[in-house]
Amino acid sequence: MIQLGDKLFKPYLSEAQILTAVQKMAEAVGADYKDETPIFVGVLNGSFMFVSDFLKAYPYPCEVSFVKLSSYQGLTSTGIVETLLDVSENIEGRSVVILEDIIDTGRTLQQLVHLFTNTNVKDFKIASLFYKAEIYNGEYTIDYVGLEIPDSFIVGYGLDYNELGRNLREVYQLNQTDMINLVLFGKPGAGKGTQAGFLKEKYNLKHISTGDVFRYNIKNNTKLGQLAKSYMDKGDLVPDEVTIDMLKDEVEKNPDASGFIFDGFPRTAAQARALDNFLDTKEMQIDATIALEADDDVLVARLLERGKESGRPDDQDENKIRNRFDEYNQKTAPLKEYYQKQGKFYAVNGIGDIAEITARLRAVIDSL
Ligand code: AMP
Repeated sequence: MIQLGDKLFKPYLSEAQILTAVQKMAEAVGADYKDETPIFVGVLNGSFMFVSDFLKAYPYPCEVSFVKLSSYQGLTSTGIVETLLDVSENIEGRSVVILEDIIDTGRTLQQLVHLFTNTNVKDFKIASLFYKAEIYNGEYTIDYVGLEIPDSFIVGYGLDYNELGRNLREVYQLNQTDMINLVLFGKPGAGKGTQAGFLKEKYNLKHISTGDVFRYNIKNNTKLGQLAKSYMDKGDLVPDEVTIDMLKDEVEKNPDASGFIFDGFPRTAAQARALDNFLDTKEMQIDATIALEADDDVLVARLLERGKESGRPDDQDENKIRNRFDEYNQKTAPLKEYYQKQGKFYAVNGIGDIAEITARLRAVIDSL
C-alpha cells in the first residue's frame, strides 16, 4: 500500500506488465503505419510516460507532438485549435495517431475528436494504454487498446491523484475498503439536504442530491432539465431511466471520492436495485440508509416556509407538496423494507434542533 495525499492505493499493474502492453501496441500500430511517417500526438499531462515508452518501442519513422486538455469543460474549441496548430503546422494530409493514457467515459476523447474534425488529416486513429470499456459511452471506437481495466481509480505511470503519483513506474489502484456510502432517506422537507451539508464536511463525502442536479439542469435549460421540469413542477417523480442514468453519471464524475451521500435517491424499488447493481460493478456498496422521520404537518409547514425563500414551485403549493408525499408513500416508503432486509436501515428522529439531529446521524454513522 502507498499513500498519496489523503488516500491509500494498492499495487495493481507492475512495470513489466505495462511495458509489455506498450510494446504490443507499438507493434500493432507499426504494422499499420510502417510505410509512412505518422504523427503521434500525446495528450498531456497523463500520457508523457506512455508516449516516451511507446516511441522507444516504435521501430519505424515517426514524428511526435502533444496537445493538452487540462479540463474538457473549461476549454473553448478555438483555444484547443490554436494549441494544435502550434504543435504541428503540416498536419494536413498526414496520418495522426492520438496517444492517450486512459479512456474512461469518453468525455475527453469527444473533445479530442472534435479538435481534429476540420483539420483534413489523411487518417485519424486513437490509441489508449488503459481503457475502461465498462463505462465508455462515446461513439468513437478505440483503435488500439493496451489494457482493458475495470472502473476503479488508478494512479502512476503518468496518471495522478491531485497531481501526485505521476512519477511511479507501476500503476496503483485506489483502496476502496475505507469508503462510506450513505443513503439519506425521508420525505420532502425532512432535512436531508441540510444534514447532508454537515455530514459531507465531517466525513469528507461527496453529496449527490438528485433534486439539486435536476434543478441545476432546469436552470441551465439542458435537455435533461427540459425533460424533468414537467414532472417536478407537478410534484411527480421523474422516470427511472432518466434518473438512474443521471445518478450513475454523477458518481462517475467523482472517481476519487472517499464516499457518497445519496440524497433523494433511490426513490423507487427499481432505483434501489439499479444502485446496488451499479455500485457492485465498482466494488462499492451502501453502508447505511438513514431515515429522517417527521410528521406530515411539520413537513408541510417547513416546505411552505422554504418555498417563500427559494421560489421552488413545488414548495409553494400545498397540493403539490401533498402529491410528493403520496409519491413517497407509494413508491419510496417500501424501500425501508428493502434496506431492512439487508440489515442497513436506521431511523432517526428528524424533529428538533438542527445540530441535535446531526448528532443523532453521526451516532449512527460512527457505529457502522
Ligand atoms: P427533492 O429536491 O429531492 O425534493 O426533489 C425534487 C423533485 O425532483 C422530486 O419531486 C422529483 O420530481 C425529482 N426527483 C428528485 N430525485 C428523484 C428521484 N430519485 N427519482 C425521481 N424523481 C426525482
